[in-house]
Amino acid sequence: MKVELVSYTKDGEKIVAIASKMSRSRKGWDYHEKTMTDEEIEVWIREAIIHGYWSPLEHSSYTFSIEGISRVASHQLVRHRIASYTQMSHRFAKPVDEYYQPVTPPSAEKRNEELVKKAYDDAYKYYYELLQNGVPEEDARYVLPNGVNTNIVVTMNARELYNFFALRLCSRAQWEIRQVAWKMLEEVKKVHPRLFKYAGANCIILNNLTSDRSMTIENVLNGIWGFEITRCPEGVYRDGIPKCILSSMGLAELWQCIHDCKVHFGDPGDDDSGCIAWCKKNYANGSRQGGA
Ligand SMILES: Cc1cc2nc3c(=O)[nH]c(=O)nc-3n(C[C@H](O)[C@H](O)[C@H](O)COP(=O)(O)OP(=O)(O)OC[C@H]3O[C@@H](n4cnc5c(N)ncnc54)[C@H](O)[C@@H]3O)c2cc1C
Repeated sequence: MKVELVSYTKDGEKIVAIASKMSRSRKGWDYHEKTMTDEEIEVWIREAIIHGYWSPLEHSSYTFSIEGISRVASHQLVRHRIASYTQMSHRFAKPVDEYYQPVTPPSAEKRNEELVKKAYDDAYKYYYELLQNGVPEEDARYVLPNGVNTNIVVTMNARELYNFFALRLCSRAQWEIRQVAWKMLEEVKKVHPRLFKYAGANCIILNNLTSDRSMTIENVLNGIWGFEITRCPEGVYRDGIPKCILSSMGLAELWQCIHDCKVHFGDPGDDDSGCIAWCKKNYANGSRQGGA
């Protein structure tokens, strides 16, 4: 799977911050454009997000090229309606020869890989035979498996990305769309770290809308686990949320290590500690699935 941010609103963070501030100000765009400082950009982005005042985030857009995912994943992706999509067409771009690269789920890799491979090979054989027999591409593709690879170009604005991440970074989301979501988050954070600082699964969004203490994924990674909500919308209780977030990132072992270390040596406190540093060093690459 390849997920790449190919284009975005370059000054998106400033635009979102100015839009957020303009709704509370009598002054116009030119004034705010000239006077807004870096600190203010951060403040006005945060103000919008923690109050659920989402419309300013619609002014910054992101285009991704997502390649080599299955149709299972792309079907889930396109259920997100506030976005634009252009997908590789199996009518015009036949998935044949080296372009037939169906996705094998990790759960099948150990004991059922051969079975999956056989199913994929059989499907391909029949698909190819139908094409050879003169069946048009648009009909021969009916026998292709759900796991067949596809490429898709996606454009979402920051508001929709927050909604997408809320649903798809959650450990309850299916593994492949979850991987796509973690990679998309990694991409947008590289260019707009302030705008996506508070992005995360629904537990993080809900916590930040209802508590004075803003949570971020970085907090969780640094062992700052101060969630204040009683439970997340999926029913996970407060104490289980950090573990849930880390396992969604494929870092369940890291959580376990920090937890055991703290129990063994005593809780070293809220911020970065010897336990966290040691565990990160030893487990950060453990069973990671997505990029964090
Ligand atoms: C874990 C998980 C399991 C799922 N399982 C299933 C399943 O079994 N079957 C299934 O069919 N789907 C399933 N879905 C898909 C789900 O029902 C949504 O279609 C998908 O997550 C898109 O979410 P969305 O509507 O919030 O996003 P978008 O379509 O991008 O919409 C964004 C927001 O815009 C608003 N909005 C958009 N369109 C409308 C509208 N027509 N009316 C009112 N408000 C609107 C809503 O506030 C919405 O949250 C699942 C999703 C998840 C995360």
